[in-house]
Amino acid sequence: MTFEQELAADLAAREAAGLRRVRRRLDTPQRAQVDVDGRHYIAFCSNDYLGLAADPRLAAAAREALMLYGVGAGASHLILGHSRAHQELEDALAAFAGMPAALLFSTGYMANLGVISALVGRGDAVFADRLNHASLNDAVLLSRAAFKRYPHNDLAALERLLATTPARRRLVAVDAVFSMDGDIAPVRELLALCERHDALLYLDDAHGFGVLGEQGRGTLSHFNLSHSSIISPRIVYMATLGKAAGVSGAFVAGSAVIIETLLQQARTYIYTTAAPPLLAHTLLASLEIIAAGDERRAQLRARIAQLQEGLAGLPWPLLPSETPIQPLIVGDNRQVLALSAKLAEQGLLVPAIRPPTVPQGSARLRISLSADHSKADVARLVTALREAA
Ligand SMILES: *Cc1c(COP(=O)(O)O)cnc(C)c1O
Repeated sequence: MTFEQELAADLAAREAAGLRRVRRRLDTPQRAQVDVDGRHYIAFCSNDYLGLAADPRLAAAAREALMLYGVGAGASHLILGHSRAHQELEDALAAFAGMPAALLFSTGYMANLGVISALVGRGDAVFADRLNHASLNDAVLLSRAAFKRYPHNDLAALERLLATTPARRRLVAVDAVFSMDGDIAPVRELLALCERHDALLYLDDAHGFGVLGEQGRGTLSHFNLSHSSIISPRIVYMATLGKAAGVSGAFVAGSAVIIETLLQQARTYIYTTAAPPLLAHTLLASLEIIAAGDERRAQLRARIAQLQEGLAGLPWPLLPSETPIQPLIVGDNRQVLALSAKLAEQGLLVPAIRPPTVPQGSARLRISLSADHSKADVARLVTALREAA
């Protein structure tokens, strides 16, 4: 077979296994009510948990920033791409996260690659939960550190690995909120293990930032761990800015030494053009809305409770999750696709998530809720699922 024929055969096998992915075309801004491929839907697909992606105040901030900073950054941060807007945002994010310093990255994926490969290398080890996000896994491979994975939330297994490692530097890396299950990592217990075994704890809070904790400060605040005076120098915190914050990008926060190390060594920070300063300026406005957003978070919690009550007793269990990620486990790949298609016929978009994104046999509808969903939106989904069951 030629190279091209082999690729075609792989694609055909993927299709036959019910694993082919397709894109839909979104014709409106991201929000609860959307037009997709020429049809109106209620969507339960986005990570825009606070409904900020299309907020007019952020659009106004972006317009203002366009006049102040133009469109492109024009250079990497270490050359001349680091604008006043980036600096102000880093300062604001460090203060908000309750950490001494912060560094911006263009995406969460790039942050994870850059941080892990800067902090560990050959002779070191990374200890990772099996359900971690793909970007964390890729980051460990890139770093060349030993990759030690433990079963989801199995702290005894993690402790055995930590106790027996010959590695010089040890880094425990976890999703603070697991992206496909929606559960929150046991951060206090993880931190205690890191103290006991002299490891750093890297928390990827892509799904907790803006949603959990006091004023949406994230998972550290959720566990009362986010005051500068008590924050452990062992914690390196990462959050993305394209999910609840509604814009794009990511930041890493930690001790001054960690942040300076990343500035000097993180290759995905150094060898790339800085994100447009207009995004940083827009994110400053987003941060204000997040901090003042208790009403939005209360609305979101009410929708989560409504969904959980409405779906109780169905043949498909909801995983236990107190976050806006509410996975309904269906199991079979084709069955989950059929269910997702049936909902779509009724104007409800809910993504079917299949292996390899989730373990074999745990295909699911990943229902994600937003403060932008109305009570009626969630009621329609509940009714449709009960009828389908
Ligand atoms: C989305 C996500 C990322 C990647 O962030 P982007 O800014 O979208 O690149 C990293 N980690 C987790 C857990 C995520 O869910």
